[in-house]
Amino acid sequence: MGNNILYIEDNPDNMMLVKRALESRGYHLLEAVNGQEGVVKAEKEMVDLILLDINLPDIDGYEVAHRLRHSSKRGLAYIPIIAITANALKGDAEKALSAGCDVYMSKPINIRELWARVEAFVPSPNPRIP
Ligand code: MN
Repeated sequence: MGNNILYIEDNPDNMMLVKRALESRGYHLLEAVNGQEGVVKAEKEMVDLILLDINLPDIDGYEVAHRLRHSSKRGLAYIPIIAITANALKGDAEKALSAGCDVYMSKPINIRELWARVEAFVPSPNPRIP
C-alpha cells in the first residue's frame, strides 16, 4: 500500500493547510481544484485515499463520489473517501454518506482530526512527527 492522497478542493487556503499537515506525516498529496479534474486524477493516478470537498465549482462532491464509485477503474469502488462538508446542519453529511463517502469531516478543518481520520485508513509513513 502506498501513501498517495488525492485532495479535491477549490479553496487554495484549505489546499495549502492540508498539504502541509499531510506532508509533515510523510504522505504525498495529489491536488485537484474541481470535481472533473478530481475524477480524472483518481482514474489516472495511483491513489490510496481521497479527501473530497463537497462544494466544488463544477460538479459537486456528491456527484464526484457517485462517479468514483461507478468508475470503470474497479479499485475506485472501494477506495476510502473522506468528505469535507461546510454545511453539516443542512444534511451534507448524510448526503455524502449516501453518495458513497466512508466518513465526513466538517469545516473548518481540524488538523488533529484530519490526521486521525486519514490514519484510520492509511498508516502514516512518519508517525512519530507531531
Ligand atoms: Mn469548496
